[in-house]
Amino acid sequence: MNKAESDRIGSYLEQSGYQPTLTAEKADLIVLNSCVVRQSAENKVINKLHSLKALKNANPAVTLAVTGCLVNSESDQLKVLFPYIDYAFNPGEYPPWLKKTASEQILPQYPSPNTFVPIMQGCNNFCSYCIVPYRRGREKSRPIREIITETEELVHRGVKEVTLLGQNVNSYGHDLPDKPDLTDLLTELNSIGGLLRIRFLTNHPKDMSSKLIAAIAQLDKVCEQINLPIQSGDNDILRAMKRDYTVEHYRQIITQMRSKIPEIALSTDIIVGFPSENSQQFQQTVNLLSEIRFDTVHVAAYSPRAGTSAARDFEDNIPLSEKKERLYIIEQLQESIARDINKRLLNQTVEVLVESKHKGKWQGRTRSDKLVFFNNDNNCAGQLVKVKVIKTSPWSLQGEVDLHSVN
Ligand code: SAH
Ligand code: SF4
Repeated sequence: MNKAESDRIGSYLEQSGYQPTLTAEKADLIVLNSCVVRQSAENKVINKLHSLKALKNANPAVTLAVTGCLVNSESDQLKVLFPYIDYAFNPGEYPPWLKKTASEQILPQYPSPNTFVPIMQGCNNFCSYCIVPYRRGREKSRPIREIITETEELVHRGVKEVTLLGQNVNSYGHDLPDKPDLTDLLTELNSIGGLLRIRFLTNHPKDMSSKLIAAIAQLDKVCEQINLPIQSGDNDILRAMKRDYTVEHYRQIITQMRSKIPEIALSTDIIVGFPSENSQQFQQTVNLLSEIRFDTVHVAAYSPRAGTSAARDFEDNIPLSEKKERLYIIEQLQESIARDINKRLLNQTVEVLVESKHKGKWQGRTRSDKLVFFNNDNNCAGQLVKVKVIKTSPWSLQGEVDLHSVN
């Protein structure tokens, strides 16, 4: 989400007459887009703000603005801590002191073949550990028409793949007048000529409907890839996290998805070391990961966030060394699962949407979101290329252009 918003803020600034610079020292305006989902991310922003103080002292004419989830609309604390910040504005907004000269929509200025399209802001869920609803407010969906028009324009500018973004993307539309849902949006997007692939993140298990699963199976442009964060494999921990589903319910969704979309690639998010998570409860998570065998797992150590109910109600009582140990166990397990899953692609031909050249090799992704590298003398950027996989690792695939399948 931050990446998408930074791209759009960049476009907004360019439409207002700014040009990008390569270093902060050369800038007239610096907009820092912050993340505070965990303390480590917040520390990064705070350190950056400290380091920008010297720059601001050396060049008082530079304008310094902060956006993203560090900006808390309820307090002016930021200005107290960092008096040299000129402006702070809420995540998802645009520099409010600038008047954009162009009247066109704000789209990423240099879209690559794939780009993000935010379709909703905010979150209504209040998972007990999470700061997002406090910083990004309640769910607010963009009207279908607006998203379609924007995507058509992006396709016109060369975009081939869109990733629809929202904190809880599968609850899209409930706040709009005629209550469309994500399936309605996907169905309309699927008929845009020139658009080749559609993805969306992140899904909440409680909103994963059979209708949506059927749509993923039926709509040819919707990729066979789903991010469905489970967070924990233990029902008591899930309850304490206020996640609103059980492991049994989650398992049913996975079974249904795998039966309707056999080739589906699955990813999830896990938090280890939630308050009072004991070794048996952690083991339940490990067992679940071994059972489901996700393609990708994003794992994080629990980080108490001031203002959330978990930070208020529970003591952060799992030592950091234990959290790190649990993190490591999951990473090791996942590495071996991903190695096995990717190995099965050896000698198969996959369809790659080529993004860019990286260290002399073309790089792109399959519909299942596997990263693929291959050699080719021609300019393949933005093209769909059939690639035969010749080497696999847990993280990526190496291949060569499959000449037999060139049509
Ligand atoms: N809306 C998405 C995720 C938003 S935050 C969802 O419901 O899953 C992205 C990820 O950060 C979460 O999935 C969670 O795993 C992690 N996260 C959020 N708050 C955290 C916290 N306080 N400590 C550790 N990880 C956290
Ligand atoms: Fe945070 Fe839960 Fe909302 Fe995701 S669904 S953003 S984890 S509150």
